[in-house]
This record gives sequence, C-alpha cells and structure tokens, in this order.
Amino acid sequence: MNNPLLNPEEKEEAFEQTVRPGSLEDFIGQKKAINNLSVFIKAARQRGDALDHVILSGPPGLGKTTLSYIIANEMGVKIRPTTGPVLEKPGDLAGMLTNLEEGDVLFIDEIHRLNPVIEEYLYSAMEDYKLDIVIDSGPNARSIQIELNHFTLVGATTRKGLLTAPLRARFGIDMRLDYYDVELLQRIALRTAHIMGVGITEAGAHEIARRSRGTPRIVNKLLRRTRDFAQVDNLDTIDEKIADKALNALDVDQNGLDEMDIRILKAIIENYSGGPVGLSTLGVAVGEDKGTIEEVYEPFLIKEGFMQRTPKGRIATRKAYEYLDISEGKKERD
Ligand code: ATP
Repeated sequence: MNNPLLNPEEKEEAFEQTVRPGSLEDFIGQKKAINNLSVFIKAARQRGDALDHVILSGPPGLGKTTLSYIIANEMGVKIRPTTGPVLEKPGDLAGMLTNLEEGDVLFIDEIHRLNPVIEEYLYSAMEDYKLDIVIDSGPNARSIQIELNHFTLVGATTRKGLLTAPLRARFGIDMRLDYYDVELLQRIALRTAHIMGVGITEAGAHEIARRSRGTPRIVNKLLRRTRDFAQVDNLDTIDEKIADKALNALDVDQNGLDEMDIRILKAIIENYSGGPVGLSTLGVAVGEDKGTIEEVYEPFLIKEGFMQRTPKGRIATRKAYEYLDISEGKKERD
C-alpha cells in the first residue's frame, strides 16, 4: 500500500484493492438489496446459468464498483471493467463481448454515457447473446452475426433517469444504493482502519462517520487524512479529538458539509435571493461543473433538507438559512 514507486493514481488503486470488501458477507449495509442479490446469485449458480443483467444506481462512492466485483467473485467468474464513454465504436464493444467467457461479468461504469449507437448493439447482446455487426459499407455492406457466451452485464450509473427505456427494460435486476446511516459508516471506518493497521476508538470512528455525507468512499478518504494528522501529532490511535481537529482542518463542518456545499447554499441565498435558480447558472456562480453539482452535491443537500428541487430551479430551505445564520428577511422583501 505504501510502495514509493507508485504514482498517486496507482496508490489510490492499490488502497482501493486492499480495503474493498470482496464478498457479500463483507459488504456493510444495504441489507435488503444485498439479501435479494444473494438469492439471485445462489439461484443462478444452482441452475448453472449466468446471472441476469444488473443495473446499479445511486450517488457516487456508495459501492457500485465494489458490488460489481463482488458479483463476479460470488459467481466464480471473471470481470471485465470498462466505462460508457470509452466504448466509442461498435468494434470496441465487439472486442469486449467476444472476449467474455461463459458467465463472465461485463462491468460498464457510467452506463448513461454510452454512445446511442453502441447501446443499440447491446440490446441483442443482452437479450439473445448475439451481436449483429455491419461490416463494410456502401453496396458491400452486410451484417454478420456473432454468437456470444452467456454473460452478465452489470451497469452502474449515478443518473438512472438518463437511461433509455429499452436499455432499462433489459436489466432483470435493479438495485438502487442509498446513503448509509452513521452506524454503518462507523463500522466501515473501523473495518478500514483495521485493514490499514491504524488504531482508532469507537468515538473517533463515529466522528469521521458522522461527517462523511453518508458515503463510504468519503469515510475512507477522511480516515486516511485523519491518520496523517494523528501521525504528525505522534498519536498511535485516532480518537474523537484528533478526528475533529483533522476534519476542521479539511473544512468539513460539523454536519459533514464541505466548502463546496456551503458555497452552493450561499450562492442560492446571497446571489439569487434563495432561488429558484437554474443548475447551469448555479454552476457558473460557484465555479463547479453543473453535472457534478447535480450528481454529487445536490442529492446530499436535498436529503439533508438544505435544498429543494422545484420545476423552476433550486431553492434554499429555511434550514439552510438557519444553518448559515442568514436572515430570511431579505428574501421576503424581494
Ligand atoms: P463511483 O460510482 O463514484 O465509482 P462507487 O459507487 O462505484 O462510486 P465504490 O468505488 O464501489 O463506489 O466504493 C467506494 C469506496 O467505498 C471503496 O473504497 C469501497 O471499499 C468502500 N465501500 C463502498 N461500499 C462499502 C461497503 N458497503 N462496505 C465497506 N466499504 C465500502
């Protein structure tokens, strides 16, 4: 994990590999979805079939990639990962599909960003395990059919609403991952700390969990940064005090809102009298990509009751005013 020869991206990947749960049993939380999935996997294995295609949706960092690897592990097959935007030409998809062995998992992250042409090719591959490819062009154009091994397509998306109806209909298993509650995140923090060989108290883990926006990936990230603070302060255990110090230094506030969350809420209130304001305008105001606001920040702010989505745009709630200690008087006058 600490190999100095690795670049930051490789280090991140090495860290992910070590802490990522490898089986359904190790996966913390999402109980209902996990119980159902374990039944589907068991049944498919008993029949000797490939698992039905699975669509995993939900905000980033909740475990979609982790689950897709677990599915392959539990089915005892290999996984071939790719992402929607990488599959540019039908040949790219054909290459991936024809390399799959019986039962293998093809994992397409960000499946909502798939090129529509590629998507059309996927339909028959998912339904009949056949790929109809047009070769040559003009008068010589002809279609050839390639038989594929039975495979499982696992698609992950933060924006399920963007999937076309025909694609959505071809997934037999539909799993939505939700934000985790603090108790589960605390367990994840304790588990990750244990794997990393870092001492941590229950209260230290709770402090990190409570301020991690309901998201396991953020728990793991904040845990690593807190470990740095503990190490520099010569502490061999992360307790509540050092966790609080580290999180404050990282601009993660008492409710887990980070600097961008606050900037978004302040922009709605101060620049647009509390809203409604459109997403693109808001993006320009805070200097953040509109898609990132929609996928990463907004779901959490809405869930926590700081923001609402209306047909005319986003508005800041009374809770946001109170939280930022801004009077609603100005809004009422406007
Ligand atoms: P993205 O869509 O942004 O890729 P994701 O939903 O695929 O995110 P993962 O990469 O699977 O998220 O998970 C992020 C991190 O959180 C990983 O390090 C993983 O180990 C950890 N994690 C996710 N879910 C759990 C869980 N239920 N129990 C323990 N650790 C988890």
